[in-house]
Amino acid sequence: MSAVALRALVASLIIASSTALAQEASGRITLALAGGRLIDGYGGPPLENAVILIAGERIVRVGQESLTEVPPGTPVIDTNGMTIMPGLWESHGHLFHVGEADPGAFQNRFADQIDAIMAAVAKVSVNAGITSLRDFCTHCASTAKGWDSPLHEQQRALRSRILNGEIAGPRIYLSGPILSQVKKSDGGENRFTIRTERDARAAADRLAQMGADNIFVGAEIWDVALLSAIVEAAHGAGLGVDAESRHVRATDVLLQAGVDRIHVLFTADALAFNSEEELRELVRGVKPIASGPSANILRGPWYLSTLPMRQAYVHANHFPEVVEHPKFQEMFSPEVYENLRSNWEQLHTIPWGVGAEERVKVAQQKLARFIKAGGREQLIAATDVGAPLNFHSPIPLQLRNFVAAGLTPMEAIQSATLRPAQMQGVADQLGTVSVGKLADIIVVDGDPLQSIALLEHRVVHVVMNGRQVK
Ligand SMILES: [Zn+2]
Repeated sequence: MSAVALRALVASLIIASSTALAQEASGRITLALAGGRLIDGYGGPPLENAVILIAGERIVRVGQESLTEVPPGTPVIDTNGMTIMPGLWESHGHLFHVGEADPGAFQNRFADQIDAIMAAVAKVSVNAGITSLRDFCTHCASTAKGWDSPLHEQQRALRSRILNGEIAGPRIYLSGPILSQVKKSDGGENRFTIRTERDARAAADRLAQMGADNIFVGAEIWDVALLSAIVEAAHGAGLGVDAESRHVRATDVLLQAGVDRIHVLFTADALAFNSEEELRELVRGVKPIASGPSANILRGPWYLSTLPMRQAYVHANHFPEVVEHPKFQEMFSPEVYENLRSNWEQLHTIPWGVGAEERVKVAQQKLARFIKAGGREQLIAATDVGAPLNFHSPIPLQLRNFVAAGLTPMEAIQSATLRPAQMQGVADQLGTVSVGKLADIIVVDGDPLQSIALLEHRVVHVVMNGRQVK
C-alpha cells in the first residue's frame, strides 16, 4: 500500500474508532466472541486468547481475554480452540444462477422464482462464510424492459432485507446491466449499447441513480476513447469499473482506459502464455484515486482470477454424483433442482467444457508466474459462482489455488478480505476485524494459516452486520 493510501486508511480508522468509542460509552454490548486466535486481516501476527465486543452492527473492542471484560448478560460465542477472522468476499458472483448449464434459459424459465432463488443463494453463501458478494448481473438487460427490468428492484430489495436482518445473506454489491459497444443484433442482447461518449456519461449517471455499486463493461476489445469516457464518468459518479478480459489485446485497452478491476484474465485465453513484458505491464501495484467521490477506491488494476469456474467443470466431469448430494436438493425448489440434475446428464454439450482440464493447468501456471513477477497484492479471490456447474460457494478452493501458486496463507486470506474491501472503496468499514468497523466475522474450527483448506468445511459461526447468522 502506498503511503498516501495508508495515511487515508489510518485517518479513517481514527475517526471510525472515536465514533465507536462514543457508541461504546452509550451503547450496550450486544454480542461477544471470546477465546481462540484472531487473524484481524492486516497481515500481522495473530492475537491469542482474543475477545471481540460488538455493539449493534459495529466492533467496539478487540482485546485479550485477561484484559477485556465481557459485560454480564452479554450473549457470548465461545471461540476457544478456533480462529476468528474477517468475513470472506466473493468478488465475482451471480445471485440469480445456481450452476445450471444454460443461464439464459434458466432465467426465463424460473422468472417467477427469482426472489426465492436469490434468497437461497444468499443463505448458502453466508453459511459458507461469505459476508460480502459482488454480483454481476449478466442477464439484467435481457428482458424487454431493459433498464426498468424488475430484476434490479428485486436485487435491491434483497440487499435491504439482508441488512435489516429479515433474511440471512451477505452484503450485496450490484452492477446493474452490462455496458457494451457491441450492438444487440451482433450478439450483445444482454447488454446496453454505448456508442458515444455522451451515452457513456448518461449510462454511468443512470447506474449510480439506480443504486449500482460498480459498473461492469462487456468482454470485448473496446474503443479506447469510448471506454475512457465510461471510466471517467464512473469515477465522477463515485463508482469503480469492472471488466472481463479474454485476450491480451483486450487487456491492453482496459489498462490504457484505466479500468479498475480486470476479471478472468488467467482463465480465459488460457492456452496462451503471457510474455514477461506483458506480465510486467500487468504488475503495477495499487494506488488511490487522487480526489473526487471515488477517492476511497484504491486503483489497481486489480485482477480477479475465476479459476474455480473451470475447476467446477472438471470436477463435475470426474464426479457427476456430486449433484446427488442432499445439500443441493435442500437448497432449491424441486423444479430448480430437477433442472440442475438434468443438466448433469448433458455435461458434454456445455461449450466451455472444451479443454477444461488443460486450461486449469495452464491458468495455474500463469497465476504462479504473475505472483512471482510481483502481483501478489493485486490478486483478488473470485470464482464466478453460479456459472455453469459452479455451485455456491467455492472461495476457499480459490484460496487453495492462490497458496499453491505462491501466496502465503495470510496473503490468500487477505485476497478475500482486506483487498476486496480496498478495491470496493469500503476498507474504512469492512475487510478486517478492528474497532470501528462493521462486524462481519467468521469463526473457523482450527487454524487456516496451517491449512487453508479448513475454510472449506470448518466455518462454524458467522456474524454478519453484528448479528450471528450461523
Ligand atoms: Zn460471471
